[in-house]
Amino acid sequence: MTPTTQQLNDWDKQYVWHAFTQMACYEPLIIESAEGCELIDTAGRRLIDGVSSMWCNVHGHRHPTIDAAVTEQLGKVAHVTNLGCSNSTTIQLAKRLAELTPGDLDHTFFCSDGASALEVAIKLAFQYWHQCEKPQPQKTSYIGFEDAYHGDTIGTISVGGIDRFNAVFKPLMFPVERLPIPDRRLPTRAASCQHHLNTLEETLAQHHESIAAVVIEPLVLGAAGMIVQPEGYLRGVRDLTRKYNVLMIADEVAVGMGRTGTMFGCQQEDVVPDILCLGKGLTGGYLPMSAAIATTQIWNAYLGDYSDAKQLCHGHTFGGNPLSAAAAIATLDVFEQEDTLAQLPAKIERIKQQLSHLAEHPHVGDVRQYGMIAAVELVKNRETGEHFPWSERHGHQVCQFALQHGLWIRPLGDVIVIMPPLAVSIEQIDTMCRVISQAIDHVTLSKASLP
Ligand SMILES: *Cc1c(COP(=O)(O)O)cnc(C)c1O
Repeated sequence: MTPTTQQLNDWDKQYVWHAFTQMACYEPLIIESAEGCELIDTAGRRLIDGVSSMWCNVHGHRHPTIDAAVTEQLGKVAHVTNLGCSNSTTIQLAKRLAELTPGDLDHTFFCSDGASALEVAIKLAFQYWHQCEKPQPQKTSYIGFEDAYHGDTIGTISVGGIDRFNAVFKPLMFPVERLPIPDRRLPTRAASCQHHLNTLEETLAQHHESIAAVVIEPLVLGAAGMIVQPEGYLRGVRDLTRKYNVLMIADEVAVGMGRTGTMFGCQQEDVVPDILCLGKGLTGGYLPMSAAIATTQIWNAYLGDYSDAKQLCHGHTFGGNPLSAAAAIATLDVFEQEDTLAQLPAKIERIKQQLSHLAEHPHVGDVRQYGMIAAVELVKNRETGEHFPWSERHGHQVCQFALQHGLWIRPLGDVIVIMPPLAVSIEQIDTMCRVISQAIDHVTLSKASLP
């Protein structure tokens, strides 16, 4: 018998432990199906998927090309291990990625989650310095950034910098050199790029002999609140890491797969990292799959006789899963068939226009955007930049209002995130931005919270 919505609600609260959720005050939103850029809940209510089902979905839900590819793969085989074994679909995906990524990022290690791809990248960089032509095994540390997010495993929270998530786990984490968040607003817009590059160079000059890699989210620090880096910063990071002989790991789990307007974020500044990590949108947001893609220089350091023991001793059971690979290949096919990237400038411009009036709002401290990623930061006082007390959950209230008006979004604290599938229509962009504006007015102006 099909369970009722009420039963599902009860069971969800009792049996499912949701991510980043206080289960004692959790109210279920249960999605039954989806169509294009809309989610449909158990009551039949349609909601625009305003954050791409947590930054994953690319071409919309139930895209016929991706659905067909997964179905066809199901008719062959659902899973094959990649420990010393392969399958034709995953091989073809790896070749496509090698062709698509810039430079000689030609060698893909497949995993299932973003965090695992980052774990692989962290270990690849570490072991590389033991085995490269001029070994430097004393390179055992990393440079990371305040408020950076790379996943929730112990290695990725060590390199990441979000204290409010991780403070309790400090005793488990390894130390890294942590730099201030490279926010383009700090210390001033004009001085930002040079200022943050100087900080990096000082740290590299002092510590490069012990640093294996810089780990960075290119262009936009996602979970930090969609913080946009100054133009030219990423390019500068690449130049400095080369100058000081340190590897660069680009975490494109959020910004990859077209989200910034180019297929990969690094391409915006003509950068080729040593290791590129993809996740989230890699399968169009369909199935779990992530990738750590390494240059030939890294790859070569791992080659040798069996007895040299140079291989990477790391693996994930479902890495390279053929169903996921089929979805990923189809996702790349749709980019070509629908000329997805060419449609983006008009959508990016529309989001910019539609959000521009919010910049003057008495409770908006900042409106920022990079490509198809946008964010509106709520503040108590725009003159001083003072935030609302976090426990008042203004961001959450805005999203609750949006939910009642046909839009599903999830905030980062008091930062309202707008990150629809790339397939979103101009009309849907207009609706999203209108609802968000109304929601912000409703939450900040109607409650006598004016200064
Ligand atoms: C989401 C995210 C991750 C982690 O991916 P999971 O699949 O949740 O493990 C890593 N890095 C960035 C930049 C992300 O946005």
